[in-house]
Amino acid sequence: MVYDPDNVFAKIIRKEIPCDVVYEDEHLLAFNDIQKAAPIHILLIPKGSFTSFDDFATKATTGEISHFFKTAQIIAHQHGLSETGYRLVTNCGPHALQTVPHFHLHILGQSTLGAFAAAAMENIHVA
Ligand code: 5GP
Repeated sequence: MVYDPDNVFAKIIRKEIPCDVVYEDEHLLAFNDIQKAAPIHILLIPKGSFTSFDDFATKATTGEISHFFKTAQIIAHQHGLSETGYRLVTNCGPHALQTVPHFHLHILGQSTLGAFAAAAMENIHVA
């Protein structure tokens, strides 16, 4: 997939669209999801032009990948989720219903979440 520089998260990175910033550094931006699926629902994104997790894992350096996931943990801990637990989700591509074509990690927590695997399985369509 070719990266679309006009996707909504690219506009957020360029500050063309506002967001509620949770964390920012040279490489990463984290902000609250506009439509929360949990009391804490943060999106962590790289500032680089990666369409999905698969694209990120293919093209990013080991250092970038390490920094990304370490930062996800730091954000979860800063929001008090280390004891109670939290969920990390990334929808990758059409079968996962990825809606924004810029790699993002959902960080969800602060309440008991639904049984994710069971819910996902319910939506399987076998030809
Ligand atoms: P996906 O479905 O691609 O895994 O997740 C995209 C997420 O981006 C959704 O949870 C959606 O609510 C969020 N989102 C879409 N547009 C915006 C926006 O303009 N601002 C913020 N903060 N979140 C957005």
